[in-house]
Amino acid sequence: YAAKSGHGAGPVFATGLDDHAKARLTMLEELRAGLDRGELVLHYQPKVTVDDEQRVDGVEALVRWQHPVRGLVYPDAFLYTAESADLMGRITETVLEIACRQSRRWRDQGLTMPVAVNLSVSNLRDPDFPEQVSALLLRFGLPPGAIELEVTESVLMTDADTALIQLGRLRDMGLRIAVDDYGTGYSSLSYLRVLPADELKLDRSFVLRCGTDPRSAAIVQSTVGLAHSLGMRMVAEGVEDMETFEQLRGFGCDLAQGYVIARPAGVEAVTAWLSERAGVQQPVR
Ligand code: C2E
Ligand code: MG
Ligand code: MG
Ligand code: MG
Repeated sequence: YAAKSGHGAGPVFATGLDDHAKARLTMLEELRAGLDRGELVLHYQPKVTVDDEQRVDGVEALVRWQHPVRGLVYPDAFLYTAESADLMGRITETVLEIACRQSRRWRDQGLTMPVAVNLSVSNLRDPDFPEQVSALLLRFGLPPGAIELEVTESVLMTDADTALIQLGRLRDMGLRIAVDDYGTGYSSLSYLRVLPADELKLDRSFVLRCGTDPRSAAIVQSTVGLAHSLGMRMVAEGVEDMETFEQLRGFGCDLAQGYVIARPAGVEAVTAWLSERAGVQQPVR
């Protein structure tokens, strides 16, 4: 570091670190303090059936960091650093707790759709994770089907044996499992053979080009077939226009999530959106 930043061969104090490393340390310090102060918040994005009814099938919880100075910080800006510093355990614990508390509130209001939480590599390596989840469900009086867990291919690729065992335990407990960002990892097919999952969420990079690029459309269509053959439901993420939604319907895709249906939003806005939908489906008696 000393040579790189031009300080000669002096001792390596914090001032000898390059800017990137300094920024990383500052962020981690602030993130730890932010976790203590409860600065993580969740936005929620609905997932609906691909038909005229567009019935709400679930909502995905997406973490944001309400930073006192920087404002709302999105996950891509801090999750990678958090993971490399072993903070993901705490983050997921926090996210799960907020999601469970919110799920309880929604259920008490008659809104019973599952809430999906995204997992990271380290979560499935933690042997205590399934117990943590069941303790939370118990604490909030939730059935296991109230929570869905989303795992990416990269989560499955790292320490695959442990990940599969842990996922198997969670699914046996009754939680729903989804493979997230499907198609962007490396070994897409080998683990599908053994993976205990309920949903395949095709990455939005394919969905995005579905209407303009025949090759992307072919991938979307055949992934629907693959998911169904494996007994899973197919979810398209990142649906941004109704043309794509109609195309997905033609392909037999089960569920869709994306800006054309609803953008991720804070709890008040989402609750209003959900209640309005519920009202349409169940006329007031
Ligand atoms: P993801 O799980 O694939 O979540 C979907 C992302 O796509 C979200 O970005 C969402 O806001 C965005 N999105 C939804 N619909 C559309 C659309 O129609 N068009 C476009 N362009 N984007 C759309 P977000 O919230 O920034 O999250 C990014 C990623 O960060 C997530 O991707 C997930 O991998 C990760 N993440 C978010 N929350 C958590 C969390 O609590 N824990 C963990 N481990 N990861 C999380
Ligand atoms: Mg996700
Ligand atoms: Mg995704
Ligand atoms: Mg994604």
